[in-house]
Amino acid sequence: MTKIAVVPGSFDPITFGHLDIISRGASVFDEIHVVVLNNSTKKSLFTLEERMALISQVTSTLPNVKVDTFSGLLVEYAKSVNAHAIIRGLRAVSDFEYEMQITSMNRVLDKSIETFFIMTNNQYSFLSSSIVKEVAKYGGDISELVPKQVEDALKLKFDKS
Ligand code: ADP
Repeated sequence: MTKIAVVPGSFDPITFGHLDIISRGASVFDEIHVVVLNNSTKKSLFTLEERMALISQVTSTLPNVKVDTFSGLLVEYAKSVNAHAIIRGLRAVSDFEYEMQITSMNRVLDKSIETFFIMTNNQYSFLSSSIVKEVAKYGGDISELVPKQVEDALKLKFDKS
């Protein structure tokens, strides 16, 4: 049986922290679906298409990683692609409460889908898309935080505004 896992998130934009979780997941599972959730309550800097294109570019060296989007319940998406696992990253204790809530809810919705947590690499424990956007907005160096394609895309966004 092919072991398929879903890595959901906003990825606005993808950072080295996300990439670390995705590539570590890809070394354990046969297939990874990175899913950009179309969550209308969150205002994003990048469009859905832009976020997906950036993820595709920076994961192009990982042959078992696919990029997709979905609006609705994550467990429904997981079922539709035959995935029985959800992978989430954990950075700090502050992530824990929210993740526990979501994981418990997902288990109520579908107990055949298991959630796995991957601890962040120490060097990325402070890293989030929001921090990257804040630094990029004021022209700070983000080359250690995001891949080059993302750095260029952020520059373009903020040069325009
Ligand atoms: P969400 O809005 O669902 O939290 P994000 O794009 O912020 O979406 O994050 C997607 C996933 O990536 C989450 O599981 C999050 O914990 C994880 N993640 C984000 N940044 C890092 C990081 N620096 N290290 C490890 N995991 C991370």
